[in-house]
Amino acid sequence: MEIKSAEFIMSNSDVEKCPKNAIPEYAFIGRSNVGKSSLINMLTSRKSLAKTSGRPGKTQLINHFIINKSWYLVDLPGYGYAKVSKSAKKTFQKFITQYFRMREQMVSAFVLVDIRHKPQPIDLDFMQWLGENGIPFSIIFTKADKLKPKAIDNHVEIYKNIMLETWEEFPNYFITSSSKDIGKEEVLAYIDSLNNN
Ligand code: GDP
Repeated sequence: MEIKSAEFIMSNSDVEKCPKNAIPEYAFIGRSNVGKSSLINMLTSRKSLAKTSGRPGKTQLINHFIINKSWYLVDLPGYGYAKVSKSAKKTFQKFITQYFRMREQMVSAFVLVDIRHKPQPIDLDFMQWLGENGIPFSIIFTKADKLKPKAIDNHVEIYKNIMLETWEEFPNYFITSSSKDIGKEEVLAYIDSLNNN
């Protein structure tokens, strides 16, 4: 898919105020600092459409961007920032739960996971929750430039082994690097295929 236009539409802390039109939407979510903003900028070929964050976990907003005037790219807040209080964590959970429950136009989520790290309970729990609630998602492994190909395969394999203990199938996944422009075409082609379904 060629990105002809990418525009910021709005930031919201209230799911009910998100755009009302029923055009397909794709949500990007992951731990703070996973590389979400960089990935969004790579996918849209824009240097700073999504702000790469100096202070992870600070903003808790749903950001809507419209791509090619035909689908929404949604930047959801990063989760799992160590310094966030218990009550902030609860608010986050409510916020995200509401988003996924209410946004019927949400076609698929992309859960971003740093390829360098062993599977983290917070990511596994979140994907478990998506699965239990019937919310379709793919995994996007980020920062692949940091590992050699063999290590990438190993880390994906570790993920597979852990997830297949509770899942029948391993989710669809992508290997990406925003610094090396890896995985962009694959993610965009996938979104294109869903849009044309
Ligand atoms: P966010 O908090 O998830 O939006 O993450 P950012 O996009 O702000 O990135 C967090 C940090 O990871 C920054 O220092 C980025 O430069 C770095 N980063 C993001 N993507 C990549 C990548 O593909 N490769 C490498 N090596 N670093 C990355």
